[in-house]
Amino acid sequence: MSKYIFVTGGVCSSLGKGVAAASIGNILESRGLNIQMIKIDPYINVDAGTMSPYQHGEVYVTDDGAETDLDLGNYSRFTASRLSKNNSITTGQIYREVIRKEREGQYLGKTVQVIPHVTDEIKRRITMVGEEQGVDVAIVEIGGTVGDIESIPFLEAARQFIHDVGKNRVLFIHLTLVPAVGGGEFKTKPTQHSAKALREIGIQPDILLCRAAKPLSEEMRRKISLFTNVELDSVISAYDVKTTIYEIPVHFSKQNLDEIVVRKLNLKCGDTNLKKWDNTIKTYIESNKTVRIGIVGKYLNLHDSYKSIFEALIHAGIANKAKIELVKIDSENVEKKAGADSCFEGIHGMLIPGGFGERGIEGMITAACYARNHQLPYFGICLGMQIMVIEYARNVLDFKNANSTEFVPQAKYPVISLLEEQIDIKLYGGTMRLGRSNSKFKENSLIRQIYGQESVGERHRHRYEVSNQYRKQLQEGGLIISGLTPDEELVESVEWPSHPWGIGVQFHPEFVSKPTEPHPLFSSFVAYSLAFSDKIKK
Ligand code: GLN
Repeated sequence: MSKYIFVTGGVCSSLGKGVAAASIGNILESRGLNIQMIKIDPYINVDAGTMSPYQHGEVYVTDDGAETDLDLGNYSRFTASRLSKNNSITTGQIYREVIRKEREGQYLGKTVQVIPHVTDEIKRRITMVGEEQGVDVAIVEIGGTVGDIESIPFLEAARQFIHDVGKNRVLFIHLTLVPAVGGGEFKTKPTQHSAKALREIGIQPDILLCRAAKPLSEEMRRKISLFTNVELDSVISAYDVKTTIYEIPVHFSKQNLDEIVVRKLNLKCGDTNLKKWDNTIKTYIESNKTVRIGIVGKYLNLHDSYKSIFEALIHAGIANKAKIELVKIDSENVEKKAGADSCFEGIHGMLIPGGFGERGIEGMITAACYARNHQLPYFGICLGMQIMVIEYARNVLDFKNANSTEFVPQAKYPVISLLEEQIDIKLYGGTMRLGRSNSKFKENSLIRQIYGQESVGERHRHRYEVSNQYRKQLQEGGLIISGLTPDEELVESVEWPSHPWGIGVQFHPEFVSKPTEPHPLFSSFVAYSLAFSDKIKK
């Protein structure tokens, strides 16, 4: 029977609860346990699909096409947990289901209430994943901060879990902050208060993960232990890492976190084995080369907007024993700047990520033109591929003002457009192509050589497509249409001719890259960017 770990957060948001939960999953997996990760988001949106990246960072897409919170990306990078739409729970989904059942008369005339109907639905969703075959531990991260109104039904459901399945099968891990004030003195009061807030709703934390800039002294930990009723060895110091978040599982394990979890939940498993993980991370920490990758986008103020892309680049850095220096280039600034080429000076590779809406598009087209003309490695992802096609149509085929109908509905040369059958469906979100599907690559194409396979399955999240009306002309003009869907209806990837590395893909390879399994496209892109940096040094 599965065991359950609930991870809650206190004091304030953005303490890295997702990474902490994923790190716990990582060390438990290293002991041979089969884990599943679940994220609860207490917002009323049904999923993250309609949210701006400025609100919640990137939208992470699963194989089955769920548009989820970016923490699922952390789970995917740190663990082998199978992630599907079931692993992401929101208030919106819970209420939608409860109301559906109520309309169908399933509650048999009862008054439908938060307790027990909403909490029952929450528990049903959690156990649906937790009781899947072979799962030893389900780790459930409850988003938000203890004390928020929105998360109360979820915490109540978590509390009831102890009654339903027994204390020996449930563990509560609470992440808090130990801030430094004045002259750098650490303060434990916020942690005491947030543990108290949990106790007030009937939950006694078993383990505390205390975020602080530096490791906490034993004296500090003793004080926290005394005031919070958490055993001393279970007060873990979650101090800031030096180079990368991927160091965290090792830090946790050094403080015996996995041992404590295994003991408290009475889990039967092997010893911790973080050797492969640790060596991988050391490769990155010890690498002494640096490669500068320019990201040309419009949501750059918030690092989390392109989270999976930035992480996939780091993984590719590991593969190439090089550190990645990200150069964030705001595409709107490129537009405004006279002599825009100066924006790209000094970078060794350019990446244009996904995006929606017309803002900043012209700057991206300028950027792609620069990369093509300067033999600069260029990686276009989703929108970045569409930009490649538009740029090529304008500047090589001489299709003046070629565009996507997403940005200019009446464009004279709509090289990117909706499919005929999509046009009538006006409902926002209704026509998105989502989730994993296959692409087939052309013989002798660079992309096929990189994957080492003729066909691959990758995840999608887009509405617009390369217009089939222009496919032939683009090809005749030299653009290599290197990948298609198996039915050959849709374009999946393109390449620039006579260019060392100019690849655009309609899908999102960044979602499946891991530090221990870097994605081949990212690795190859970074390898060619390194080669470019060597060339300009000479
Ligand atoms: N806006 C483009 C489309 O909908 C690209 C989407 C994306 O980059 N994810 O097709």
